[in-house]
Amino acid sequence: MSDEFEELWSELAPVGRNRITGGYRRFSWGPADTEARGWFVSAARARGLDVETDGNGNLWAWWGAPGPEAVVTGSHLDSVPDGGAYDGPLGVVGALAAIGELRRRGLRPRRPLAVTVFAEEEGARFGVPCLGSRLLTGAITPERAGGLADADGVTWARAMEAAGLDPGRLGADHELLGRIGAFVELHIEQGRALVHSGAPVGVASAVWPHGRWRLDFSGQADHAGTTRLADRSDPMLPFAEAVLEARRAAEANGALATVGKVRVSPNGTNAVPSRVRAWLDARAADEGALRAVVERVDAAARGSAAEHGVTVNGFLESKSPLVEFDHRLRDRIAARVGGETGGLPLLTTGAGHDAGVLATAVPTAMLFVRNPTGTSHAPEEAATGADCRAGVAALADVLADLTGAGPRSRA
Ligand SMILES: [Zn+2]
Repeated sequence: MSDEFEELWSELAPVGRNRITGGYRRFSWGPADTEARGWFVSAARARGLDVETDGNGNLWAWWGAPGPEAVVTGSHLDSVPDGGAYDGPLGVVGALAAIGELRRRGLRPRRPLAVTVFAEEEGARFGVPCLGSRLLTGAITPERAGGLADADGVTWARAMEAAGLDPGRLGADHELLGRIGAFVELHIEQGRALVHSGAPVGVASAVWPHGRWRLDFSGQADHAGTTRLADRSDPMLPFAEAVLEARRAAEANGALATVGKVRVSPNGTNAVPSRVRAWLDARAADEGALRAVVERVDAAARGSAAEHGVTVNGFLESKSPLVEFDHRLRDRIAARVGGETGGLPLLTTGAGHDAGVLATAVPTAMLFVRNPTGTSHAPEEAATGADCRAGVAALADVLADLTGAGPRSRA
């Protein structure tokens, strides 16, 4: 394995990194995201790949003419606020490095091979994750996606336009989808299962069902020093009750529930708030457990809101069903890559991915690379150089196998 991965990695590493926190702030269509996408286009072109942008803002770099039964790999370059270095970029840099590795092995794919960069995977700017892949597969309508607004009221359609793309082309692309024979995403593990199993690389079996719900609590703003407790309609109280209930409900159902984003109005130290808007992220191994968590949080929010003279409204912002990755592809990969060592460890994940969205349309698989901290969506997210190289080598093996790559002809 050459140092191509490290070279590419060090080119991309400074883009969008905040010097104070060490975390990444690559928000879709913003300056850092645009720079990262530009880096990808030149890195791909420098490797002789033909780059195109689909109608939904996803990038595709083709080795060989785009055609049927293509094998596609890739991930995303956008980040959560102060995200880690690996979530997304590992799968993009790893894909380019894997193509270099195939070339070094003297192999040429017999089927078209593409590296893709999906737009707005994290949903950090426009609220809905995996927006590029959802649009591509038709899981979200162009009308809804185009109208999603960021915190400043700028819509996805306007932001795309400002980046030089035509929002009139948004929507499902069945021709492009129809070309994909298989999609494989390389990703950093967002947990410590591989640490416990002692393996640098694993293969995903399923993605837990998960979703995002918004809760709006509305009360009455008032003076913190003169308004008697009995006279208040304080939306912070049912909000707090909902947060605690989310934790209790997740524990009771073997699930995960998080309130990581909240907006308070007017957000003054000496004012009873008028409004609290909060977002609940919930994930569980099955739909029943997920529903149970959300229903308990909803009931607690309503009960407490009634007690405190506050109104509450809940909205489902996005929901992803249980995804089981293609068994045949998963087993083929596990045998191909981990054959001599008895197969790759199988992992389930609570994190959503573009691969999870694509799995509804094409045979899809994911490879995970060990993360010693287990932390993700934070600067502490980590992977050793050796494990990244193991991930790239595994991806190269998989791509060689799936594309039926053979020795390059001298002609
Ligand atoms: Zn990711």
